[in-house]
Amino acid sequence: MSLEQCDLLIAGTGPAGMTAALYGQRLGLKTIVFGDIPGGNLYMIERLANFPGFTDGIAGMELGARIFQQSQAEGARYPMERLEKLQRVNGMFHGLGGNGQIHRASAAVVATGRVPIRLPLEKANLKGVNFCSICDGPLYRNKNATLAVVGSDNTAAQHALTLAKIAARVLLIHRSAKTKMDAAHASLLSGRENIITMGETEVIGCQGLDMIESLRVRSSLRGTYEIAVDGVFLAIGWRPNTDFLDFQIDKTPAGYLKTDSNLMTSLSGLFAAGDVRDTDMWQVLTACADGARAAKSAAAHIAGISAG
Ligand SMILES: Cc1cc2nc3c(=O)[nH]c(=O)nc-3n(C[C@H](O)[C@H](O)[C@H](O)COP(=O)(O)OP(=O)(O)OC[C@H]3O[C@@H](n4cnc5c(N)ncnc54)[C@H](O)[C@@H]3O)c2cc1C
Repeated sequence: MSLEQCDLLIAGTGPAGMTAALYGQRLGLKTIVFGDIPGGNLYMIERLANFPGFTDGIAGMELGARIFQQSQAEGARYPMERLEKLQRVNGMFHGLGGNGQIHRASAAVVATGRVPIRLPLEKANLKGVNFCSICDGPLYRNKNATLAVVGSDNTAAQHALTLAKIAARVLLIHRSAKTKMDAAHASLLSGRENIITMGETEVIGCQGLDMIESLRVRSSLRGTYEIAVDGVFLAIGWRPNTDFLDFQIDKTPAGYLKTDSNLMTSLSGLFAAGDVRDTDMWQVLTACADGARAAKSAAAHIAGISAG
């Protein structure tokens, strides 16, 4: 196994990780960024309307490509592989990718985001149960489709709005009486006639052979019944991506990484940025801001180490 030395090792090629790379390089740190196709969850955002400076919004995919190119132009290296393991060895971080090489760094940033949770039901893995409306929504174009979105937050609203342009009708199904989305999303939804909101309704079963064909739901008003659907899009919760961390570290009960005000985790020299950390805003702008701060804190940490 060969060993390669860098200053800052970043896990995650979403907006948090790529911004950390941009700032890391500009602060003079030799930076390497592990992850698959650059962009992370930006690719799920059809039109990002709340990122300052883009008055008409910007496609998530385009913003992802721009941050990638900008950080690469500053010299950040992207081997285009995920990190299999991050270890702590003699005060240094060792990152193991898929090709057997060990990348050693004085500081590391975890910016690996989070993945959507599946329905805890039998047959919840049938074909047609999806998580990304931009990626999988077009499969239902011109099919007079009925699509269900399960969830009630801004992500669920975004899925419903994207799918309403493709499907005949979109059923927005959520357990609670009230939705968790903000007023801007609620107002966009109310303007779409083919989005039907079904509150106080719980999905209790999935039916189908290979493809999803119907959902069994329990509603406070109508009792238990079945709805025929052509596809389902889930937005019911998240699980932070931290399985590759090969050491003990403080987390919230939901698995998010705890950090101090410099975004350092409970392990000295390890920082967390974006959706993977304990925050109350899971947004592109805050992920970028986290990435910048984590890189700055990492540079200070490394300088401290060197000085010592
Ligand atoms: C449908 C949808 C709509 C949204 N709409 C908006 C919106 O309108 N406005 C807004 O501000 N935000 C929106 N968001 C939220 C926004 O996308 C996230 O807050 C943001 O992408 C978080 O950035 P991140 O870099 O922390 O994580 P992510 O974007 O999730 O990127 C993390 C990356 O790390 C990778 N990774 C995971 N494990 C490893 C590993 N072991 N090694 C290397 N890489 C790994 C992942 O594959 C991923 O590429 C939306 C999200 C969704 C799903």
